[in-house]
Amino acid sequence: MALTTDFAGIRPDSRTADPKQDHSRYRIVPARHPERLAGTIFAAVVIIAVLYSTFTNPRWGWGVFAEWFFAEPVLVGLGRTLLLTTLAAISGSILGTALALARVSKSPLLSGLSWGYIWLLRSIPVIVLLLILNNLGYLYETIKIGIPFTDTVLLDYPTVQLLTPFAAAFLGLTLNQSAFFAEIVRGGILSVDHGQLEAAAALGLPRRRQAFRIVLPQAMRSILPIGFNELIGLAKSTSVVYVLALPELFYTVQVIYRRNLEVIPLLMVATVWYLIIMTGLSVAQHYIERYFSKGAVRNPAPLPFQAFFDRFRRPLPILNRATDRVRNTGFHDAAALRAAGGIVRIHGISKSFGSLRVLDDVELNLPAGSVTAVLGPSGSGKSTLLRAINHLERVDEGFISVDGDFVGYRRKGDTLYELKEKDILKRRADIGMVFQSFNLFPHLTVLENLIEAPIQVRGVGRQEAVQLAQDLLARIGLSDKINAYPRQLSGGQQQRVAIARALALRPKVLLFDEPTSALDPELVGEVLDVIKELARTGTTLVIVTHEIGFAREVADTVVFMESGRILEAGPPARVFTQAEHPRTREFLAKVL
Ligand code: ADP
Ligand code: MG
Repeated sequence: MALTTDFAGIRPDSRTADPKQDHSRYRIVPARHPERLAGTIFAAVVIIAVLYSTFTNPRWGWGVFAEWFFAEPVLVGLGRTLLLTTLAAISGSILGTALALARVSKSPLLSGLSWGYIWLLRSIPVIVLLLILNNLGYLYETIKIGIPFTDTVLLDYPTVQLLTPFAAAFLGLTLNQSAFFAEIVRGGILSVDHGQLEAAAALGLPRRRQAFRIVLPQAMRSILPIGFNELIGLAKSTSVVYVLALPELFYTVQVIYRRNLEVIPLLMVATVWYLIIMTGLSVAQHYIERYFSKGAVRNPAPLPFQAFFDRFRRPLPILNRATDRVRNTGFHDAAALRAAGGIVRIHGISKSFGSLRVLDDVELNLPAGSVTAVLGPSGSGKSTLLRAINHLERVDEGFISVDGDFVGYRRKGDTLYELKEKDILKRRADIGMVFQSFNLFPHLTVLENLIEAPIQVRGVGRQEAVQLAQDLLARIGLSDKINAYPRQLSGGQQQRVAIARALALRPKVLLFDEPTSALDPELVGEVLDVIKELARTGTTLVIVTHEIGFAREVADTVVFMESGRILEAGPPARVFTQAEHPRTREFLAKVL
C-alpha cells in the first residue's frame, strides 16, 4: 500500500479527509433493493405465463394466423386503413389548427363559428356521422357548385357518385378529428407564455408569423403528447368505417372469418397489424417530441446514433474569435449600427385600468439621441409609460409621436386614424423594447432570435441579417454562443442577446424596462456596460431602472414618477443632489 505517511497525532478516522489518500482499495457495492428483485421475479412470471398460454393453447390458431397474416386481401385492407389514417390525420390536423386559430381570433363571429363547429362535431358519435354522410345522397341528390344567385353552374354531380364509401369515411374521420384536434391546439396555444407574444409584437412581427413561428412551435410541446393520443385513436377508429362496407383491415378480416369461421386467429391478424401501426406511431412521436423540445430543456438527451453522426456533420458557423476583441472599442465605430435616434414627444397621455388612473397627463419630450432614466416606486406607471410608447398599451388620452409619426395612428389633417394592427406592427420595428424577463424565444437559437425580425419585418436578406447578427454578437462578446439556445445561457448573457435582438432592427428608440432587475448582482454590470456603450451610438434610449449610479452616469435626463404622474424631471446632477419635490428626495434617500 502506498499510504505510509505517519499521521502523528491525528486520529486515524480523520485521515479520509486527505485528498492525496489512495482510494484504490475501496470497492463500490450497489445498494440492495430486495423489493425490486421481488417485482422483477413477479414480472418475469407473468410474462412467461402469458407467452406459455398464448403459444401452447392450440385454439389461438397460430397456424391459421401465419397463413393469413400476409394474405393479399389483408394487405389490401391494411393499405386502405393506412391511407385513410394518413389522409384523415393530415387534413384533420390542418383543419383543426385553422379552427383553433379561429377560436382564439379577435373576431367574435369567427370564434363563435369555430366554437359551434367544435361543439357539434364533438357531440356526434363518429359512427352516426359516417352513416349520415353515407346517406347524404338521400338529402341532396346532386352536389352543385356554381355562382350564387345566377344560373352559372361549374360542377354538378350525383352525390352517390361523388361520395363513395372511401370519400365518406375520409370526410367523416376528418370532420371528427379536426374538432378534437382544434381543442388540443388551442390548449397548446394557451400554454405559451404571454411574454412571448409581447416580445414578438414588440419586434413588429406580423400576426401570421407570430402564430406560426413563435407560438405554435412552442405550443407543440404540449400539443404533441395529446395530439398523438388522438392520432392513435384515429388509427383505431378507422375500424368503425366497416359500417360503410369499406373493406379496410377490420372489415376484410370480418369477411374472411365469416367464411372460414376461424374467428380468433383472424382477429389476431388484425390485432397484430394494429399493434405494428401503433408502434410506428409511438416511435414517430418520440422523435417529433424530441425535435420540438429543442430550446425547452438545457440539455436534450442525445438521440441513438447521434454522437456517431455528429462526427461527420459540418461544424456550424462559429465566428472568428478575434472579432470578440473589437468589443471594447464599442458600438460607435460600427457604421451598421449607427442609427439616427428618434425624437419622442409624449403629449399629455393618460391611461386608466378600470377606476385606477395609471398614467395621469404625462408630458415628456425626448430629443434625438438622448438617454432618459425613469425612476419611481413600484406601481407608479413606469412600465405602462414604456408600453404606451411602442403602443403595446393604448392610451385613453393624449398621443405620442416618434419623429413626427404618431404611434398607433395615421394623421390626416387634424384627424388621427387608428392604424390596423398590421401597420402598427410594421411601425413598431422603429421602437425596440428590452424586457425585464428577456423574453427571448426559447425554441430558437441565438442567431435565429436575432435574424427573425430583420428578415420578416425589414425584409433584409438572410445573408445580411446573419452578418449583422454576427457583428452584434461580437460587440456584446457572445460570438461563441451564436448556435446556443437561450436556456443554455446565463441571465446576463440572455439579456445581452435580448438587447442585440432589439438592436438588429436598428430602432430609432430603444426602451428598457428594468433590464437588470431579474439578474444576479454580479451579472448586472455586464448588461449595464452594453447599455452604456449603446448610449453613445445616437439611438434614443429610455431606461426604467433602479440602478441610481448607472442612471447618474449615462442619463441626460432623470424622470421621477409617482402614481402615474411625472413629479420631477431634470439632469441627474440636479435631481440626485437637490431634488425639488419632497417625494423624490424621500425615494432617493431610500434607494441611494
Ligand atoms: P411600474 O412599472 O411602475 O411598477 P406599472 O406601469 O406596471 O408600474 O403599473 C402601474 C399600475 O397599473 C399598477 O398599479 C398596476 O397594478 C396597474 N396595471 C398595469 N397593467 C394593468 C392591467 N393590464 N390591468 C389592470 N391594472 C394594471
Ligand atoms: Mg414595471
